[in-house]
Amino acid sequence: MGFTSYFTSSLFLYYRGNTAVGSDGVRITMESALTARDRVGVQDFVLLENFTSEAAFIENLRKRFKENLIYTYIGSVLVSVNPYKDLEIYTKNHMERYRGVNFYEVSPHIYAVADNSYRSMRTERRDQCILISGESGAGKTEASKKILQYYAITCPASDQVQTVKDRLLQSNPVLEAFGNAKTLRNDNSSRFGKYMDIQFDFKGAPVGGHILNYLLEKSRVVHQNHGERNFHIFYQLIEGGEEDLLRRLGLEKNPQQYQYLVKGNCPKVSSINDRSDWKVVRKALTVIGFNDDEVEELLNIIASVLHLGNIQFGGEDSGIAYITTDTQIKYLSRLLGVDGLVLKEALTHKKIIAKGEELISPLNLEQAASARDALSKAVYGRTFTWLVNKINDSLAFKDESYKNPSVIGLLDIYGFEVFQHNSFEQFCINYCNEKLQQLFIELTLKSEQDEYEAEGITWEPVQYFNNKIICDLVEEKFKGIISILDEECLRPGDASDITFLEKLEDTVGGHAHLTTHKLADGKTRKVMGREEFRLLHYAGEVNYNVNGFLDKNNDLLFRNLKEVMCMSENTILTQCFDRVELKDNKRPETAATQFKNSLAKLMEILMSKEPSYVRCIKPNDAKQAGRFDEVLIRHQVKYLGLMENLRVRRAGFAYRRRYEIFLQRYKSLCPETWPTWEGKQVDGVSTLVKHLGYKPEEYKLGRSKIFIRFPKTLFATEDALETR
Ligand code: ADP
Ligand code: MG
Repeated sequence: MGFTSYFTSSLFLYYRGNTAVGSDGVRITMESALTARDRVGVQDFVLLENFTSEAAFIENLRKRFKENLIYTYIGSVLVSVNPYKDLEIYTKNHMERYRGVNFYEVSPHIYAVADNSYRSMRTERRDQCILISGESGAGKTEASKKILQYYAITCPASDQVQTVKDRLLQSNPVLEAFGNAKTLRNDNSSRFGKYMDIQFDFKGAPVGGHILNYLLEKSRVVHQNHGERNFHIFYQLIEGGEEDLLRRLGLEKNPQQYQYLVKGNCPKVSSINDRSDWKVVRKALTVIGFNDDEVEELLNIIASVLHLGNIQFGGEDSGIAYITTDTQIKYLSRLLGVDGLVLKEALTHKKIIAKGEELISPLNLEQAASARDALSKAVYGRTFTWLVNKINDSLAFKDESYKNPSVIGLLDIYGFEVFQHNSFEQFCINYCNEKLQQLFIELTLKSEQDEYEAEGITWEPVQYFNNKIICDLVEEKFKGIISILDEECLRPGDASDITFLEKLEDTVGGHAHLTTHKLADGKTRKVMGREEFRLLHYAGEVNYNVNGFLDKNNDLLFRNLKEVMCMSENTILTQCFDRVELKDNKRPETAATQFKNSLAKLMEILMSKEPSYVRCIKPNDAKQAGRFDEVLIRHQVKYLGLMENLRVRRAGFAYRRRYEIFLQRYKSLCPETWPTWEGKQVDGVSTLVKHLGYKPEEYKLGRSKIFIRFPKTLFATEDALETR
């Protein structure tokens, strides 16, 4: 047996002479299993003696983090702590080690999760999904990229498949250029949620893909907080774009020239090379199948957004806005193929249709600026969606003869967010997390229950908090928060953020999970602003400031601006702004309702698949390697619901393994089972554990697996291996 076999070993350690190699691949010389466990912790939290103790949980994480062991399981859930440094654990060799081996027989790894899903898909013919969650900067996007790379490298391939693999991989830099930005939390923060299906043919080769995107943070196009940037693509174009390209687009080689790029006062980021990223993105666009015309039109739009941002208005005294910057109009007119005069008019007037008649009224300075920004956001947001569709066309599985490819879905979506100031965006994001938590609880409990049933072991009910009550509070028809918000958005007259808050108080004020300043009067535990409502989420309390809720939910763009975009000669824009939208003069769905509907669809998709979970944790706020900030981590353990997860998983039995695997590992501990057991596997295990002195209450024998109630039973057996 070669030395590499240590990886296919065991729960803890594999011995070779005096040297032990942890199943994490850590070499431990002359050290007993016991002290090694002390040092590197357990690789599955279900093996923690004191599994209800948060302190013990965090201590185990800390020990492992210190040893660069960033992955730990809770049963089949993978917990990952961002190392903020490159670890040598993603090589081709590592991929090979995880290929086709039993999930629990190797140390925890993102590749183990990827491989396990792949094999379940192949052998059980069930679609899979891998749900990755965690707060910004915790490592979700990196995890999803590693999974994709794993499939790209390890799955079978033909020439045609290679094209699909390339396109799948290249979709990442493109989406990140347009959808990611530098924030205070993450230099490469995804500002949209992403669900990606990878489709496999009957040979297990990736043959196609499809992406769904959620709630792009459009407001970033026009405004960035201090220390943050706009979407990467703007800087990449300016820093990397060839001279004649920039000349054609009318752009200067200096991001500081653009109003939309200066708000955060952060044009350069040390960890980002915009110039080389530009080359990567430009090449990726070609690999995905964008032709030169499409790239030109796409860049025309990106440049136009920057020109829009530099449009300024006069008219402070008169109260009627006019445009003072004609150069920008000139560029816009050329780049977008629209009439400059019509555009000017549309940027300074608003047109509404009331009772079949067109009403045009001039805008004041503030209104004109906000109409301009609304246009920029709409143009960018819709172009992003167009881009996703375009990538989907290129990834689409085209073999007509093969109707039902198997699927592995990857969900990389924003985790629970709690800031000093929480607004509409946090409300949507946290609602999304409530939905995912609900799905998680339902599916985890169900799969536990199913396994017990399949193994013929009595199910012992688990107490858990069902967060359906919070989901209902947000999404219920008529009396849910989103319904109430939509109602205020539709109501003509004096509707405002404050009247929305009052409506909330009137309608759901008595709800156990909602409080406002007024309702909490006299008994408020924490100070709360007058413009806030507080939701008691499964992960804790969050105060939301209602300021801007109506505007953000309405997401209005004046009609005449839409008309100008429909008339554009830029074919991307005419696909984004459809004349039908103008014709039926119906109110578009509000942002929250759109989000609610797309989440409902996502839940359906996820429900139809077998889930695996990756829970990502950010170790510190400084993006630094080696720093384990306990307070920060404790919060995340709470928000991710890890203790609850562990409790559910541990409710019955800490450990379960198939008979043949258990026997193979421990058969040397009993003369009757060593070197081989000839009879039925279950009888072998029964003989073995009786010989080891297991008491009847410590274990149960199911149809194909042994279930062990306490970790200490297993540890004793593991230690016996060593002193044998
Ligand atoms: P999220 O998507 O959760 O916001 P990212 O996946 O973008 O976070 O990770 C943020 C940064 O952390 C990455 O740009 C990278 O520098 C670092 N990082 C994340 N995961 C890993 C990892 N497994 N190994 C090394 N660095 C990582
Ligand atoms: Mg991300």
